[in-house]
Amino acid sequence: MTDASSRAGALLAGLTSADPIGTWSAPGRVNLIGEHTDYNDGFVLPFAIDPRTVVVAAPRADGRLRVASTFAETPVETDLAGLANLFPGAGVPEWAAYPLGVAWAAVAASGVDPSRLNGLDLAISSDVPVGAGLSSSAAIEGAAAAALDEIWGLGLDRVALARVGRTAENDAVGAPTGIMDQMATMLGRRDAAIFLDCRSLRTEVVDLGFDAAGLELVVIDTGVKHAHSTGGYRDRRDACERGAAALGVPALRDVSVDDLPRVADLLDEVTFRRVRHIVTENQRVLDTVRTLRAEGPTAIGDLLLASHASMRDDFEISVPELDAAVEAAMRAGAIGARMTGGGFGGAAIALTPRDRVQDVTDAARAAFSDAGFRAPTVFSVTPSDGAHRDD
Ligand code: ADP
Ligand code: MG
Repeated sequence: MTDASSRAGALLAGLTSADPIGTWSAPGRVNLIGEHTDYNDGFVLPFAIDPRTVVVAAPRADGRLRVASTFAETPVETDLAGLANLFPGAGVPEWAAYPLGVAWAAVAASGVDPSRLNGLDLAISSDVPVGAGLSSSAAIEGAAAAALDEIWGLGLDRVALARVGRTAENDAVGAPTGIMDQMATMLGRRDAAIFLDCRSLRTEVVDLGFDAAGLELVVIDTGVKHAHSTGGYRDRRDACERGAAALGVPALRDVSVDDLPRVADLLDEVTFRRVRHIVTENQRVLDTVRTLRAEGPTAIGDLLLASHASMRDDFEISVPELDAAVEAAMRAGAIGARMTGGGFGGAAIALTPRDRVQDVTDAARAAFSDAGFRAPTVFSVTPSDGAHRDD
């Protein structure tokens, strides 16, 4: 039993004397490459990681849905009969809008009458660090979605459940994120990444083979918190929409690297750099998939580095801590490194030969200490399976 599932079980036992129905879990994710391309209808290459969020469920006889998290002081509950009108709306604490938003969106997607559903208590706990760019948000959505789909017999498939998670995050929480995280958490496979076309939602499993190549994927969590629903994320989305509108295309996915010299004349300087990041990043995802298949993971280092430079210089979503993490990792022998996630904080990843992992860890800590940054948290993650029932 993982730490998260024993904590969730203990939390549930404090809420109810009913026997648990079961335990479901869903992973966080690391995006190997393809940043901010998802809401531009582009390509991404995330993989599910070993830390997971766990939901333990127990029945209630009163037609109410209650959610509790080890993360929050008090549980939040709602009447299932009123679920359809719960969002959009004020009054639900932000954290509870994730699992309750999933219930709301899942019921809408399946067309069932929520007043006929059985009441539930859901106890939630997570081993995914929150706000670190590892998508604890998709993990809580995925775990709740998998649990509710099975318990309520909604019959939604994995892609439908990913959409449910996104709807919860966009319309219940109010964070304007794309579909990548939810697809990774629902569809992840051990030792593999999910190549996702965010326009068609077509996916391909791409073997990573890190272990066989003697590599580890090291995460350097800067501890700098980002907030998706405010700030720069929304600003970058707006810039991409402006760029696509000015170029007369449905989405920046429809612009190719060869188009860039021509489009430079049509956009102001900042919008052009935002567009150039998206366009070149899409190409880097395609190149990474091809390189992984043809040559294996040891050959993708330069693509990771080019992605970081593009986010730092063109999209301007890096922060000094992320740049320091990437530079320290490279100096200490990583074969490639980049910030991952939405930016403005969170984590960097460094693809690292196993015998250099300690050097990378030490170098990151030393660089942060020298710069006067708070000490980073450094750990390795393993490409893992997506959402499932645990027992
Ligand atoms: P990230 O997905 O990078 O971790 P987000 O800001 O997208 O960061 O999502 C973090 C938010 O998700 C938290 O602030 C909290 O509201 C919610 N959340 C994540 N995990 C849990 C959990 N185990 N219990 C309650 N809320 C959670
Ligand atoms: Mg998130």
